[in-house]
Amino acid sequence: MADTVFTNVMILDGSGSAPYLGEVLVQDTRIKTIAAGAHTVARDGATVVNGDGATLMPGLVNCHGHPTYPNMGADLYETGEIPVEEHVLITMHNVKTMLDHGFTALVNGSSAKARLDIVIRNEINAGKIPGPRMQAATPELTVTGGLGDLRQLHMYHEGFAEVLDGPEEIRKYTRLMIREGVDVIKLMISGDNFVRTGTAQMTVMQEDEVAACCSLAHAHNRRVVAHARTAESVKMCIRHGITLIYHANFCDEEALDLLEANKDEYFVNPAIGLSYATLNQMEEYGVTRAMAEAWGFEHELESAIHTTQELHRRGVRVLPFGDYGFAWNRIGKDARDLEHFVNLMGFSPAETLMMATKSGGECFGDQLGMIKESYLADLILVDGNPVEDISLLQDPDNLLMIMKDGAFHKEPQVRRAARLRTAAA
Ligand SMILES: [Zn+2]
Repeated sequence: MADTVFTNVMILDGSGSAPYLGEVLVQDTRIKTIAAGAHTVARDGATVVNGDGATLMPGLVNCHGHPTYPNMGADLYETGEIPVEEHVLITMHNVKTMLDHGFTALVNGSSAKARLDIVIRNEINAGKIPGPRMQAATPELTVTGGLGDLRQLHMYHEGFAEVLDGPEEIRKYTRLMIREGVDVIKLMISGDNFVRTGTAQMTVMQEDEVAACCSLAHAHNRRVVAHARTAESVKMCIRHGITLIYHANFCDEEALDLLEANKDEYFVNPAIGLSYATLNQMEEYGVTRAMAEAWGFEHELESAIHTTQELHRRGVRVLPFGDYGFAWNRIGKDARDLEHFVNLMGFSPAETLMMATKSGGECFGDQLGMIKESYLADLILVDGNPVEDISLLQDPDNLLMIMKDGAFHKEPQVRRAARLRTAAA
């Protein structure tokens, strides 16, 4: 692979520091040299990309992806009814969409069928299809009556979750998925407002079930992630070393203290995009704001905002993105979360961008998410300054270049203003 030098770029390195003018040399798959100023990095046969003052930053990291979710409507039955052949193709297109939008790394928060994530990850790793570097997940491991249990007596439905009761069933399925090659095991420890029999305020999974999964998964060096909205479910995560916690809405003082005391190990991903969209943008799918409020989504969003602000204040790493993959919260729109973090949580654009890159990379568990020597060369070039306008990242046309592992996914483009000048001349 030819080396690449980016010149005349504003370097936003992911650390939270302000962008500065400089040059970056990429050698093979990694960042070799970073220097401030102009003509500061040796070219020596490298491909030179003149950024014309655009912003070079790390690729975005989503630690709660669902590329198997088909962007369908509110009827959760639909996902289960997709034949596996079509579902492979849907997933393949979704991972490309994610990379096209600047997401270069992905920890998945469940796969709608057991092996979908695994085969797509393998194809990406083999360089056969485009997509982010990806940790493949199991389906949602849920319990009878929990989120994802779409069964009815005397009826047959395929769902998107695996319904398991008791530690023995959980143990057997966890072993099966480890055998199949999964990286991430997903537990539904709390309920959800989409489920009448196990709401967001209920802890539906029991201690021995969580323990059975975690002891096995951790013995095999696999990650466990959890849907955990209640305080008790968050505490269960901490008791069993589930270091990536989704939602955490209803943390009480004890749960907040425990997370703070273990802040070097734990990450919390509120995934507010879906709550926000369900409340405000679901009318055309048959759910009015009044209905969504009655189901508890306003309270869900407010509690997530409050908890996330409090965790951030206490130094716990919080992560944007998550739960995109529905018609009213589509894959590709994920970067809307950045604006939510600024507008709804009151975080600064600089710290929000750090959460989306550096913190995400720390959670992913590899040398990525920063422009730093020896880190993986997962980089995007943005037409403008996302610290001044964080919404820039929502439009893939503003991404002038996308690089993963030192190779261009999107070849460098000329900045829009320069294109317009050329067109006018
Ligand atoms: Zn999710």
